[in-house]
Amino acid sequence: MPDTFKAILVSRDEDKKQSVAVKDLTEADLMEGDVTVAVEATTVNYKDGLAITGKAPVVRRWPLVPGIDFAGTVTASDHPDWRRGDKVILNGWGVGETHYGAYSERARVKGDWLVPLPEGMSAHDAMAVGTAGYTAMLCVMALERHGIAPDRGPVVVTGAAGGVGSVAVAILSKLGYHVVASTGREAEKAYLTDLGAAEVIARDELTGPVKPLAKERWAGGVDAVGSTTLANVLSMTAYGGAVAACGLAGGMDLPSSVAPFILRGVSLLGIDSVMAPKEVRLEAWRRIATDLDVAKLKALSTTIGFDGILDAARAIVDGKIRGRVVVDME
Ligand code: NDP
Repeated sequence: MPDTFKAILVSRDEDKKQSVAVKDLTEADLMEGDVTVAVEATTVNYKDGLAITGKAPVVRRWPLVPGIDFAGTVTASDHPDWRRGDKVILNGWGVGETHYGAYSERARVKGDWLVPLPEGMSAHDAMAVGTAGYTAMLCVMALERHGIAPDRGPVVVTGAAGGVGSVAVAILSKLGYHVVASTGREAEKAYLTDLGAAEVIARDELTGPVKPLAKERWAGGVDAVGSTTLANVLSMTAYGGAVAACGLAGGMDLPSSVAPFILRGVSLLGIDSVMAPKEVRLEAWRRIATDLDVAKLKALSTTIGFDGILDAARAIVDGKIRGRVVVDME
């Protein structure tokens, strides 16, 4: 292996002005950890866009290699669970926020953070799912735990043409749900229908004034948007329903009332992927391997190289990325 490898580094000057550059690093530059991984594929998540553009304080250590998830092969390990040659996935745990991340040909992390690449899945496939897709699966699992089965009625997915949304639409439709996909991009209607959406509605239907209770439209949903959108989704959720909230693409606020909770028994299910315990991750990846169609996975992802990361990061915060972006490192 060459002594140096490529990585993206975000830095901050004395005036706290952020800059980003591609650098050559050596393994001595990597942070502490007991497993070193040759990164084969990564992806551009919304959070990575925020980190690279500096639009929100995702980066909490300077300088930093961003990138919150990767798949690759172990090259060295002092951890009992991992050996050289093992295929692994990493999502979250502060990687790409406080620990050097995925936008590097090599990464050194804690072995406890890794999960095995599911049988039959390539590094590329795993990153077509990525943190966005794994989070979508966590949302679906939360809805199921709450008893929101397909026979309970339709489920809504907001930010449907984005990463979390696209995978949620694909998984829910494969599981037999009647999926109502909400998007701000009229042009993506066919894409969403192909992924399995039974209905596609305009984002505007969920961004108007929020009533405490509105007409019941769905049994539950997956929300990647937050703010007024989530408030409207809650007010339109049927008696006893549940909404899994995982994102803030539309804002961090929640201009809601307690009416859906106390008058309709609606539940708001909070979803965090970053610190999710290992057994939950293993279950989510096991379910992804069985409940997500490979053909749909291919349809919802586009592939770029290392050199395309910065442009994709800027595009995702502008809401211009459709589905998932996979970065092939080789
Ligand atoms: P994407 O940018 O791929 O998708 C977000 C989608 O939200 C967009 O494609 C767009 O969908 C919609 N959207 C964007 N801006 C607005 C707006 N102003 N108002 C309404 N809708 C909007 O991001 P990801 O799918 O990767 O992530 C989605 C969210 O989930 C992010 O906030 C991210 O931080 C969060 N997230 C949280 C995780 C967790 O652990 N809780 C893990 C992973 C992601 P459309 O064009 O179809 O309307």
